[in-house]
Amino acid sequence: MDISIVVPLYNEADSLTELCEWIDRVVKGMDIRYEIIMVDDGSTDSSWETIQTLITSYPIHAIQFSRNYGKSAALHIGFQKASGAVVITMDADLQDSPDEIPELYKMIISDGLDLVSGYKKKRHDPLSKTIPTKLYNWATRKMSGIHLHDFNCGLKAYKNKVVKRIEVYGEMHRYIPILAHRAGFKNIGEKVVQHYPRKHGVTKFGWERFINGFLDLQSIVFMSRFGKKPMHFFGSLGSLVFFIGFLAFLWIGGNKIYCLTQHIPEKNIAEESIFFIALTAMVIGTQLFLAGFLGEMIVRNAAHRNEYEIEQEINHGQ
Ligand code: UDP
Ligand code: MG
Repeated sequence: MDISIVVPLYNEADSLTELCEWIDRVVKGMDIRYEIIMVDDGSTDSSWETIQTLITSYPIHAIQFSRNYGKSAALHIGFQKASGAVVITMDADLQDSPDEIPELYKMIISDGLDLVSGYKKKRHDPLSKTIPTKLYNWATRKMSGIHLHDFNCGLKAYKNKVVKRIEVYGEMHRYIPILAHRAGFKNIGEKVVQHYPRKHGVTKFGWERFINGFLDLQSIVFMSRFGKKPMHFFGSLGSLVFFIGFLAFLWIGGNKIYCLTQHIPEKNIAEESIFFIALTAMVIGTQLFLAGFLGEMIVRNAAHRNEYEIEQEINHGQ
């Protein structure tokens, strides 16, 4: 198998037929063997019925989840099933263009890249999405040190061993280039790709994407830096906070002694409310972050972080 095209889909019935025709048309001109791995992420429309029809005409391997588990889970199972030397992911909604397949394939096979990420230079999305996305990509670049313009493009190509090595869970599909980089695949490239407006149906991600994306970025950076040595993080933060507390204690003590020796009436520190606000905010903020990171570590190490139920699995020609 030369190419596996992994397509996560959730309620995209109207797009699937055109998508398969288009992929097939492009790939037919390449003289290679390919498969389309369709992962129906618990669609409630007629997506699965449409796939059952399409499977008779196209080399489709289809998996149906018992419910909606999210794009990351869909990609994860698709990656596990992919047998192509090159694995290409693509959204199902016709916003990504199958015309990019030959060039992406070439960049992996001939140019030797581990991962090629699509870059939707000219996007066809509302401003409410494109402006925060710019900010998000900037922050991700700064925090990860990986110079991509568009981390969360659905259209990406990988060497097969890359997708087998990384584990996409939760909503980590936004950060696959970082996961790959941390797993030792440093040859990451970018390709400007065509992007189309959504033709049918609606977007599956609302404004929460930005909050979740920000939190996941914290987790991923934290996990890759301190996941195996959490004491370096907790220890230094703890020491710092303790040190600040210790200085404050010295200051209060010193002040008290000074006032006593000079016979100055003491000013009660508890009268300054800003002191308590700062103190409480600091303590609560630290606690929250610690709780978040501890939770993240537990999730990472839990055996069931990528557990989902497959309802049906069907294959072309079977
Ligand atoms: N998707 C999915 N499971 C989900 C949400 C989305 O498989 O829970 C699929 C969706 O069907 C599409 C792709 O992920 O093929 C990208 O989703 P969408 O087009 O809604 O995202 P956007 O383009 O708005 O970022
Ligand atoms: Mg889309």
